[in-house]
Amino acid sequence: MSMANVLTGDVGGTSTRLGIFELRTPRPALVATRTYGTRDFASIETMTVAFLRDVGVTPSSLSAACFGVAGPVIGDAATLTNAPVRLDARAIATSVGLARVALLNDLEALAYAVPVLSAEELLVLQDGRADPSGPIALIAAGTGLGEAMLHRIGERVVAKASEGGRADFAARTERDIKVLRALTRECGRAAVEHVVSGPGLVNIHKALHPEGCAARIDMTAATAPGAIADSATARTCAACVDTMELFVEAYGAQAGNLALRAVATGGVYIGGGIAPKIRGWLQTGSFLAAFRAKTPFAPLLESIPVKVILNSEAGLLGAAHYCLLT
Ligand SMILES: [Zn+2]
Repeated sequence: MSMANVLTGDVGGTSTRLGIFELRTPRPALVATRTYGTRDFASIETMTVAFLRDVGVTPSSLSAACFGVAGPVIGDAATLTNAPVRLDARAIATSVGLARVALLNDLEALAYAVPVLSAEELLVLQDGRADPSGPIALIAAGTGLGEAMLHRIGERVVAKASEGGRADFAARTERDIKVLRALTRECGRAAVEHVVSGPGLVNIHKALHPEGCAARIDMTAATAPGAIADSATARTCAACVDTMELFVEAYGAQAGNLALRAVATGGVYIGGGIAPKIRGWLQTGSFLAAFRAKTPFAPLLESIPVKVILNSEAGLLGAAHYCLLT
């Protein structure tokens, strides 16, 4: 018997990755993938049609499709948080000619990858002792900050998205309070995402060091977050170093907050594009120190495994795994 193929998507505000997977058990196998500019197409439908043509796959040969979307999914539709793009599952099914289309939040899709990730795709920050039936929490800083939980109920796994990245930024140190004040002045409110994200790096640098950047980074450029991280690593600019230190602490503290909310005894997984690029910074100890500093729950937080997801296609893999499970 030949195995069914499925279509998967990871739809972000800037770029969208589409993929075809063969539904192998227990882990689906990637057959083909392409990345497109989300705004380069009039709709996800036209992008999907172009992708299927590019990889030579006919829609009728696919048993299902699942898209992870960077925004809340309400009913059968979703709108991206950071771009005016709307997806409607039924409209996609009809216009592309697909039998079954599911929409998940992008972090929900990523959560479904966790049960099938291999050790080589993970960087362990803290070993801990995973409870095999305990809830798993995911946090992912990139263009924004995504969060999700994965619950294990009997033999089933069920992911639940969260918009916790838009919750209020909880300042813990005098340095944090400086950032909180600047963001509140500028935006009316400081969300965690204003600090723990790519744009957050720029916000932190501006708030802590309004005098400017010794590395002469153009803070309006899309490349600024990466440039700040590079300059901090090379110690070119003391303000960039300061920025990265606060960023790593705030990321660890928020991962710890999420671990408390979920009682994530199954583990905390760090996804998103930033973590693999700053792994040296995540391993200095300040991420874990902030993660654990939750008196009286330090022992609980020390027992939770903390791992960075290194596979950049994990979102697609999770969407494919979801098709296998449903
Ligand atoms: Zn700088």
